[in-house]
Amino acid sequence: MSERRIVFQGDHLWLCAGALPEVKAEVSLTLPEGVLVERVAEAEPVPEGVEALGLREAFDRLDPEAWALAGRAYQWLEWEAGHRFCGGCATELEPGEGYSLECPDCGISVFPSNTTAVIVLIGRGEGPDREWALARSPHFKPGVYSAVAGFTEPGESLEQAVHREVAEELGIRVHHLHYFGSQPWPFPNGLMVAFTADHLDGELNANPAELEDARWFSRNDLPLLPSALSIARWMLDAAVAELERS
Ligand SMILES: [Zn+2]
Repeated sequence: MSERRIVFQGDHLWLCAGALPEVKAEVSLTLPEGVLVERVAEAEPVPEGVEALGLREAFDRLDPEAWALAGRAYQWLEWEAGHRFCGGCATELEPGEGYSLECPDCGISVFPSNTTAVIVLIGRGEGPDREWALARSPHFKPGVYSAVAGFTEPGESLEQAVHREVAEELGIRVHHLHYFGSQPWPFPNGLMVAFTADHLDGELNANPAELEDARWFSRNDLPLLPSALSIARWMLDAAVAELERS
């Protein structure tokens, strides 16, 4: 990809050393910042010198700003593909202001929405005895454990979502909830909001409908952790660094 042009093939991003080749785009659109985004058919052969990489895999190869831009482009492509017609009058939508589509008939503007999820790193104990509750989802790569996460439900605050998810997935209660940070998650349109918390009571009991396992881990026996691409990893790295400072 270059700063001015991004090409996707399905959900794969094209990377190459020089300028991206010209393409026969199925979809082409321009981001508000003037970047041209094109999508070529999955059946097209990948040209010589081009590497087609999943967005997750591209994380290690791009600087954070370029990766974030690619994520935004992908989210926009996906959203647009699912919003071709006006929900009010079924007229075909046209590009509107910024990240929006407009109905030329009834004038409705629609904007991409995010699906909000929460993630929480739960700790217990102090100093070198500090441990964190990490869980394994069957979707994770072998051996990887992470903080628990889940989507917010309609009418729910972020804090309520954390307490509900923790109770549902781990069977415990937490307190001392603190905001850590947030991360756009373009797979396909998430916003991940991260918290830290302390264990209040209850025994860890992984819900088998969602998790394979959940355990307390200390700094010296941490399992494989999620990639540096995820806010779960940033939280764990920050928690371990804090222990090492104290
Ligand atoms: Zn309309």
